[in-house]
Formats: sequence, structure tokens, C-alpha cells
Amino acid sequence: MREFDLIDHIRARTGLPRGDVDLGIGDDAALLRVPEGQSLAVCVDTMVAGVHFPAGTAPRELGWKSLAVNLSDLAAMGATPAFATLALTLPVADARWIGDFVDGWLALAQQHDVALVGGDTTRGPLSITVAAHGYVPHGQAMRRDGARVGDIVAVSGTLGDGAAGLDVVENRVSGESASWLCVRLNRPTPRVALGGALRGIATACIDVSDGLTADLGHLCKASGVGACIAMNDLPLSAALTDYIDLPTARGWQLSGGDDYELCFTVAPAHWPEAQARAAAAGVPVCAIGVIEAEPGVRVIRADGQCIPAMAKGWDHFA
Ligand code: ADP
Ligand code: MG
Repeated sequence: MREFDLIDHIRARTGLPRGDVDLGIGDDAALLRVPEGQSLAVCVDTMVAGVHFPAGTAPRELGWKSLAVNLSDLAAMGATPAFATLALTLPVADARWIGDFVDGWLALAQQHDVALVGGDTTRGPLSITVAAHGYVPHGQAMRRDGARVGDIVAVSGTLGDGAAGLDVVENRVSGESASWLCVRLNRPTPRVALGGALRGIATACIDVSDGLTADLGHLCKASGVGACIAMNDLPLSAALTDYIDLPTARGWQLSGGDDYELCFTVAPAHWPEAQARAAAAGVPVCAIGVIEAEPGVRVIRADGQCIPAMAKGWDHFA
């Protein structure tokens, strides 16, 4: 397969029709419209084989996940996804690999009506860079810097499943819980509807991609506050409880990566409304702690002792 056959294949399948795309794949740049009154929210993420995913990960999973991690960033801003670009670096141009990658991509892109409008294709060690673009009404994006002392800290879904999924892959574990955890690792659900629903009520928001304490630490730092969270309140999936002992699970919940849940803060008076909106969006949320004036993230352990969290989230250069 040649470079242009490859691009043609991608183009033929991914250019979902949208009224705001004047020109998609095929020219030197795409031409897109931003509706009146909306800001364009833009993010980009690179996934490198052997760093962000095990080398043997199926192309179908990579297609889904490379888009999902970006839609998760847009969700954390409260933005509605619209377009994406895809820069692919491939060791070989394999038609089957591309077909499977696009299958996985489309399964998610169609759910959110995201049009692929351009990209770049090069040869080299496998690496996938996706940029996603979305809309958010002017001045209404959820940022990291709005948390206030006394706010409730909440998270969506369950935590620790991504780290468990990686453990499953690395140790080639099989079974029902193990395969569910693998799906959580490879096919994360970006919380797009929840992000939109929390706009105007959450004071700050971040997606949990590098580990809860690290990401909550970023939110706190940006807001000039700290947080105290209770280990016993971190939402655990049945599969995670089934898969591993509780102390290991709690460790993964605090510092494992790849969960792609939303962590947000909300004034206590607005918490019932936030819960109602989350329920309407079909996503469980739960309160895990409170924002405090003292900088840093603290964790109340199962034995009641409050200790500073070791914010050892993923750092590429550590
Ligand atoms: P240029 O040399 O002008 O950058 P390319 O030959 O790289 O153009 O790409 C031709 C067209 O195909 C462009 O519109 C580009 O956005 C698109 N494209 C290239 N690679 C990809 C890809 N992996 N996914 C989606 N679109 C792509
Ligand atoms: Mg190019």
C-alpha cells in the first residue's frame, strides 16, 4: 500500500458529513466553521508504542483509544467534539492494519459525530497523534483554576480500572473480570455528556489520565488550593475488587493512569444539582473529598490517618 492509497482509504471512511466542514481531507488544510458565540477548544495527544500502549495492542483498540483520550480532554473542558486530525507514523503501510484502526476509530467517532478532517502520514516507529477540536460557549469552559475552599471534590465512574487493565495485559491474565478491565484500558469512555452537563455548575474540572492524585494536584495548583480525599470513598468497580486485593486496588485508584474519568469540584450548595445532571447524563458520580486552603493533596487512609498523597503520576521525563 502506498501513502496515497492509505490516505484515500482513511478519507473514504472517516469524513462524516457535517455542516461546519467546508473542506475536509485532500487539500493543504481543512476549512472549518466555528458557530457564533462559541470558542474553539483544541487539544492534542500522542501515543507511542511501548510508552503509552504495549507494542502488541490491536489496531482496532488504538483507533478507538487515540480518539477517546482527546475526547476526554474536550469533555473535561465541557466542550462538544466536532473535528479531529490524525498524524500516523507507521513502520509499514499495511492495509489490514489501517482498516482495523479505522474500524475502532469510527466506532467512537460516529457516537460523537466527529469528522476526521486531515492529518499526516509518515514512516517510522509506530506513533499516533490525534488532535481534537470542539466547541464551548464563550466564557463557559470548565477550567482547572476555579476550585474554591469548601468545594466538594467528585469523580465520575470508577477508578483504578485502567491500571488493572495494564496489569491484566502484562501478566496475560484471563477471565471475566480481567477482560472487562482490558476493555476499560483499551476502550475508555470519554465522559462527553457529563462534561457538557457540568458546565456552569462545576467550579473546576480535569480528566484523570495520569492518576487521581497527580491530576487532582494539577487542578489544586492551578486554583491555588489543596484537597483532602478519603480513600474509602474512591469508587471501585466490581471487576477490580474481584481481580485484586484491596490495598493494591486502592494504590491503583490513587496513582494508576488511564482511567479517563472526570474529576471536578462543585460548591456544596450545588452538589444535589450536579448529581441530578450527572444522572440525566447517565454517568454515576461520587464525592471523594473537599477543597482546603492548605496546598497539596492529602489522603485519609482506611485507618483514619491523613497523609500527604505521593503525587507520582506519569512523568515522561522522570
Ligand atoms: P501535505 O503534503 O500538503 O501536507 P499530504 O500529502 O501530507 O499533504 O496529505 C494530503 C491530504 O491528506 C491532506 O489533506 C492531509 O490533511 C490528509 N492526510 C494525510 N495523512 C492523513 C491521515 N493519516 N489521516 C487523515 N488525513 C490525512
Ligand atoms: Mg503532509
